[in-house]
Amino acid sequence: MKYIFILGYFCFIVSCLYSQDWEKKKHQMILTLKEYGIKDAKILKTMEMVPRHKFVPEPYKIYAYEDTPLPIGYNQTISQPFIVAYMTELLELKPKDKVLEIGTGSGYQAAILSLLAKEVYTIEIIPELCNQAKQKLKQLNYKNITVICGDGYKGLPQKAPFDKIILTAAPEKIPETLLKQLNNNGILIAPVGKENEIQYLYKIHKKENQIIQSKLIPVRFVPMIRK
Ligand code: SAH
Repeated sequence: MKYIFILGYFCFIVSCLYSQDWEKKKHQMILTLKEYGIKDAKILKTMEMVPRHKFVPEPYKIYAYEDTPLPIGYNQTISQPFIVAYMTELLELKPKDKVLEIGTGSGYQAAILSLLAKEVYTIEIIPELCNQAKQKLKQLNYKNITVICGDGYKGLPQKAPFDKIILTAAPEKIPETLLKQLNNNGILIAPVGKENEIQYLYKIHKKENQIIQSKLIPVRFVPMIRK
């Protein structure tokens, strides 16, 4: 009995030290994001709340709070934290926003969006990743996210218009269907370009039904798959 108690106490101390370690690493990541120019305090706080290590597969967990993309299987990656923060900042999210994400991947970006908007719809084309993200987000208790398995090129007409749309896989050209599903005064953020050429991040602002487009920084994303 005594030994079981000692063993239990030992496990408790080890798990406390282990979780403190993640918190320390996560805090260090936030300092790096600030250094790289992320200013929005709400976004920094949100990134401090979401456990990236729970979205990263086992062999890469130790790198979860490094500012780097990491493999999530099926030749796909979870984006670099700086890019997640930067794209989230560009979306200018408001608490009443309805958001569409194309490319659920691990579900990490969707988790960040869900804490800053009212509802998030996210589409993933690889069924295995889609089901894993569904389970993960449910297990972590994110209630305002709907994960849809399917082709993001079509968007989600039954839930349109969206106040904000974010693409986390790169098409060669922004799909017209998605522009149509963007609300008036809405913002769409997308990496655009061919797989082996330089891609750029674009910000599209729909104002009085006119499209205003700005070309931002060069980026590297996995390509958006066409069915
Ligand atoms: N946002 C993700 C990372 C995205 S990686 C995260 O936070 O982890 C890009 C993802 O887009 C991949 O999972 C890929 O399978 C998916 N994807 C590519 N083409 C797609 C399409 N046409 N529709 C939906 N998802 C697509």
